[in-house]
Amino acid sequence: MTDMKTDGIAVAIDGPAAAGKSTIAKIVANELAYTYIDTGAMYRALTLKVLREKVDLEDNHAITELLAQTNMQLEQGENGQHVLMDGEDVTVAIRSERVTNHVSYVAKHPSVRKEMIQRQRELANKRSVVMDGRDIGTHVIPDAEVKIFLQASVEERAKRRYDENMQKGFTTDFEKLKEEIKQRDRIDSKREVAPLIKADDAVEVNTTNLTINQVAASVLDEARKVLESRRDG
Ligand code: C5P
Repeated sequence: MTDMKTDGIAVAIDGPAAAGKSTIAKIVANELAYTYIDTGAMYRALTLKVLREKVDLEDNHAITELLAQTNMQLEQGENGQHVLMDGEDVTVAIRSERVTNHVSYVAKHPSVRKEMIQRQRELANKRSVVMDGRDIGTHVIPDAEVKIFLQASVEERAKRRYDENMQKGFTTDFEKLKEEIKQRDRIDSKREVAPLIKADDAVEVNTTNLTINQVAASVLDEARKVLESRRDG
């Protein structure tokens, strides 16, 4: 019998804030029976700790030290993935507006990225993973068999986030949301180490006028093409 774990491939999904990466990654992982790894959640968990402990956002050394003392786990629960930080379930806390608006400042420190990339590589090592983030195809798993770069207009991304918030029961200022998304993209794209950029060999999918199912289908097509060519070869 073939072992799915050893035969599996790595699917890297990158793109700007609110492009639908996690939604698509979860569907694709589910369809392929792979593990979904949300690398943004790891940067968010560290940011939560930085804010709680009132560490200066510019203090590279202190933040790196804090990360060295922080245990992070992504666990598959019945109702989705849970993020554990030092054993505490921070799944909800890391999605707060405060964390969202500070995470890019924490993520830009080179030594923080070095450690995160190392931890993420260990998670991706066994293959059969769908990993999403900003630098997965370029730095974390540059040899990923499938690389996708999801794009969408900032207008559309803000609209999706706005609708998502409405569904959760709170209204947000649309223009403010748009500005926050733009600001996060700006910091993520301009940082010195592992900036948000499309890998040369990534397939770019513009999702502005596509449904979630259409995007997931095109990513799954790419993955199945690779899996089939391996089977045939
Ligand atoms: O994907 P998500 O929006 O949750 O990511 C939050 C932030 O974490 C990003 O805006 C970025 O600053 C950082 N990040 C990163 N590299 C990754 C994943 C996330 O720098 N691979």
